[in-house]
Amino acid sequence: MQFCDECGSMMKSMGSKMRCSNDDCQHTVAKDEEKAAQFVSTEAQSDDDVIESSEDANFEGKPTADDVTCEECGHGKAWYTIKQTGAADEPPTRFFKCRECGYRWREYN
Ligand SMILES: [Zn+2]
Ligand SMILES: [Zn+2]
Repeated sequence: MQFCDECGSMMKSMGSKMRCSNDDCQHTVAKDEEKAAQFVSTEAQSDDDVIESSEDANFEGKPTADDVTCEECGHGKAWYTIKQTGAADEPPTRFFKCRECGYRWREYN
């Protein structure tokens, strides 16, 4: 679902374009532009959102890091996944999930 940048009404797909369903507005965007805009907003999301989206990740069976300490329970082992959350030339971020209590956190390299 996409919404008009101008008035917030629902955008309808019109061939290669998206058009505002509000007849007083009729704001139109090319679909490619819309995709680019969504990509920017994804990059601009807050740290909390990044953690949120990583919650769907299935940590079971992932590699285990034993050089960590859970801030929540002090356990020394956690599953981790590595994700590229920033630009390609930035180091990836490690996401941890405590094997003891399930607490999740992230580490900046
Ligand atoms: Zn509109
Ligand atoms: Zn823990």
